[in-house]
Amino acid sequence: MRAAFVSLLGGVLAGLTPAGPVGGAAWPEEAWLWQALPEASGQRPVRLYLDAGHGSGDNTGNLSALCEPEERFTLSLATDVAETLRATGAFDVLVSRGDGRRPTYRERVDEATAWGAELFVSLHSDVRGRASEWSPEPGLSCPRSRHAPGFSVLTADEGDDALARARRRFALALGSTLRRTGFLPYDGKHYAGDYELVDRSPGVFRERSGRDGIFVLQAASMPSVVIETHHALDDREARRFREPETRRAFAGAVGRAALQALR
Ligand SMILES: [Zn+2]
Repeated sequence: MRAAFVSLLGGVLAGLTPAGPVGGAAWPEEAWLWQALPEASGQRPVRLYLDAGHGSGDNTGNLSALCEPEERFTLSLATDVAETLRATGAFDVLVSRGDGRRPTYRERVDEATAWGAELFVSLHSDVRGRASEWSPEPGLSCPRSRHAPGFSVLTADEGDDALARARRRFALALGSTLRRTGFLPYDGKHYAGDYELVDRSPGVFRERSGRDGIFVLQAASMPSVVIETHHALDDREARRFREPETRRAFAGAVGRAALQALR
C-alpha cells in the first residue's frame, strides 16, 4: 500500500517537473510504473501505425526466456496497446498484422502510407549477449540471460532533413516518456558497432552509418521508430510484459510521446 502511494506520488511529480525522477531503478523486479494515458484534445485523432514486429514468412523473431516466439509477443502487445490508445479518443491505430495476415515489411510501410499514418512504431523485443539454458516450467528448456535488461528506442538519420529531425524528435520523446513511466533504459553495451546513443539520452540509439539499416526506419515516409521493449532473454522482464498493468503503462508512454512529437 505504502509502495503504491510512493509510486503514485513519484508519477505525479514526474508529470509536473521536466527534470522529474528518472524511473527504472526498481525495474524489473518492483512494481513501479506510472499509469498515465494521454487525453483527447478535441482535435481529430492522431493516426498511429503500430507494427507487430516479425510475423512475415518464416521470420518469427527471437525465442524468449519463457520460450515465447517474438512474433507472438509483439502481436499480443500491439493488440493491447492499440485497444488502450483507441479508448483514449486521441488515436486511430492500425495494427500491421493479425487474423492470419503476415505482410512483408514493404507491405506494412506501404499500408501505413496509404492509410495516412502520421507516425510508425515497430514493436520488438531484443536479444543481447550470451544466454544459458534454464527451465521456466517443468518440461520446458529456454534460453536465459539477466545481464542486459531494459528498453531501447532505435532511430536513423536516413532521408531528408525534416523527416530525420521528426524521427529523432519522436525517438527522444519516447525515451523520455518510457523512462519517466519507470521502464529501465538499456545501457547499450552490446550495441557498440551497430548503434550509438542519441543526444546522451539513455535508451535512445541511432543506427551507425555504413550499417545495413532497419527497413522500416529507412523506408517509411512518416517518422518511424523501433522499440525494443525489453530483453527477451530476461525472464523477469518477459514476465512483467505479460502483465496488463505493464502493457497499459507502456501504451501510455507511447501515446504521450506520440502527441509530444507531433506538437
Ligand atoms: Zn525483433
